Amino acid sequence: MSHATFCRPDLDSFCRLDRLGLSVTGQLVGADHTVLACRVVEPDDWCHRCGGAGTLHDTVLRELAHVPLGWRPTILRLRVRRYRCTGCGHVWRQDTTAAGGARVKLSRQAVLWALKSVVIDRLSIARVAGMLGASWHTVNDAVLTAGRALLINDPGRFDGVRILGVDEHAWRHTRHGDRYVTVIIDLTPVRERTGAARLLDIVAGRSKEVFTSWLARQSPAFRTGIEVVAMDGFTGFKTATTEQLPDATAVMDPFHVVALAGDAVDRCRQRVQQATRGHRGRSGDPLYGIRRVLRTGSDLLTDRQRARLAAVFADDAHVEVEATWGIYQRIVAAYRQTRPGRREENAHHDHRHHQPRGACRTDRAEDPRPHPVPPSRRRSRLLRPPRHQQRTHRSDQRPTRTPTRHRPGLSQPHQLHHPRPTGHRRLPTPDTPSSAMSR
Ligand SMILES: [Zn+2]
Repeated sequence: MSHATFCRPDLDSFCRLDRLGLSVTGQLVGADHTVLACRVVEPDDWCHRCGGAGTLHDTVLRELAHVPLGWRPTILRLRVRRYRCTGCGHVWRQDTTAAGGARVKLSRQAVLWALKSVVIDRLSIARVAGMLGASWHTVNDAVLTAGRALLINDPGRFDGVRILGVDEHAWRHTRHGDRYVTVIIDLTPVRERTGAARLLDIVAGRSKEVFTSWLARQSPAFRTGIEVVAMDGFTGFKTATTEQLPDATAVMDPFHVVALAGDAVDRCRQRVQQATRGHRGRSGDPLYGIRRVLRTGSDLLTDRQRARLAAVFADDAHVEVEATWGIYQRIVAAYRQTRPGRREENAHHDHRHHQPRGACRTDRAEDPRPHPVPPSRRRSRLLRPPRHQQRTHRSDQRPTRTPTRHRPGLSQPHQLHHPRPTGHRRLPTPDTPSSAMSR
């Protein structure tokens, strides 16, 4: 820049009007907005129908909101000539599509500015509209149209996707229409450490059909390129993947794996509670007393908590709880490993040498199934979760001495009107009727 030379001040280039095919002829600087009078540079005086010469018929005005220069709305007032053909009598007006698209009330520069403000700077449509001096609907329509053309219709957008993520999102909290959308993201940059996950698409609804038809709409090259599909425990996504992407590996993200294993610990504890005491857990029951300690990562336990666990596990009647707890802890520990290779070693090592007492009787331990994917196919992927998915889970939370009324990690079946984090949705299990899936 230091070697650049100054030239005469020029409003056309300063306001980027030259790129719009316009030239400024006057300015009206008001207190709250500026109007720039412009003429259309290109004469466009040859008949659009027969090619004959046109004569000036009259002029009309077209106003476009421009980029807000000087922190106030800038309006371009275009004098547009209308011509009449001397041969055929056809009347046309000067082409101004270089300045703004047909029936769009924003200049092309303003549309790009609005799109950038909304997408990158996260400004609201209302704020952008206020700065442009345009209506909300004008800006909203322009941003949607430009976003579709520049971002969504980019033919290269789906290139190179190898790791696909699919999840649901509750976006509407009313009784009308679909409450859920299916969110499809590209996790390839996360695995390759080249950037953040990219949003590929959002589709209304949450079902096997939604994901199946989305996959079916993609190009064969896209489908064959997918190596891994990461998802929560929803069997519909798994079935859609198996049908549409037979060569891809479906993996469940760590958060949901740990949640499932934790639920198994709870179910086992409740079952053994009933078997040994004949009633639901209540204050004073040994298993009830350790219900939170069981869900805590064993490396986070205090000495006092360890002693309480040991005391309860000393009772042979509780051996199934101890076995299920041991499996849960090994799953948690596997995800805690920071070096990917260590996770599998750790899991295997524990299995051989560190079985909890009674683990030989795992046939009676609570089965954390159903897994959405056969373990043989799943293990190596599961133990290497994408970095963004290494969410903390409830075993990282120390149990509080005074129990809170609402624990976000536990199922809250009454809160149907609240957005349900995906971690709450469970797979259909023998004790989870399929009707519960539609919640
Ligand atoms: Zn003509």
